Amino acid sequence: MDGTTTNLQGAADAPFYLAHADECDVFEAANANGLPVLLKGPTGCGKTRFVSHMAARLGKKLYTVACHDDLAAADLIGRYLLKGGETVWVDGPLTRAVREGAICYLDEVVEARKDVTVVLHPLTDDRRILPIDRTGEELEAAPGFMLVASYNPGYQNILKTLKPSTRQRFISVEFDFPKPELEARVVAQESGLDADRVKALVRLAGKLRALKGQDLEEGVSTRLVVYAATLIAQGMSVERAILAAMVEPLTDDEDVKRGLLDLVTAVFG
Ligand code: ADP
Repeated sequence: MDGTTTNLQGAADAPFYLAHADECDVFEAANANGLPVLLKGPTGCGKTRFVSHMAARLGKKLYTVACHDDLAAADLIGRYLLKGGETVWVDGPLTRAVREGAICYLDEVVEARKDVTVVLHPLTDDRRILPIDRTGEELEAAPGFMLVASYNPGYQNILKTLKPSTRQRFISVEFDFPKPELEARVVAQESGLDADRVKALVRLAGKLRALKGQDLEEGVSTRLVVYAATLIAQGMSVERAILAAMVEPLTDDEDVKRGLLDLVTAVFG
């Protein structure tokens, strides 16, 4: 299905993830107790990577759904499809995860349609059931099933926040951009760029983030810093890579762009 990915990896090949604090312990404890987890934080700060890492570490299958404003409950639960003249029921990713005791990760859950939250409620209390209206089934979640959702509280859209009745069903972990030393390790590991140039990029990222709320809606993400470092490591000039990966993605306003480029000059001389 659109926007859904599945993966099953062993702990040995768990994707690289550098912990910010004790989030791995919290996730493990939630998993051991069948509790749902909500990851809050800006885009590109490692939430998705964290979930893939934890799923692999725990040896669990992971269904990831990138939520969007057209995503309805049926996309998660499943639907009847015509196959060779017959109508057959096909489970959606949430139903598969519930049956298999896997992890289902709903990335940017507030983007989804309202009917999705209704489905999540009986799954996130102690009943742990998924009612499937279309088939009349009431599925009890298999042991090990875990619901994980993420959202970005920074978006200034009042219509797109989670209602207290929904958010109070989850254990919550807050994510933010990593501290400079940690971010430098992440960027170096992901891009292969040398430590000095990585440090300068991370310093620039800190300065760009300080502009959030004044000229910029969102600070530059770790993802973009990794992109810039990757381009430089591949041989692109520092100026070109920064323009492409750390300036253009942040703004369309020419004046703001010029201001950002002045910052780049101040950091890189
Ligand atoms: P989010 O889901 O928060 O939008 P991602 O998990 O996709 O962000 O992170 C974007 C990229 O940033 C990752 O692909 C990875 O390269 C890098 N990254 C950010 N934080 C970390 C971290 N703590 N450990 C490893 N990689 C990280």
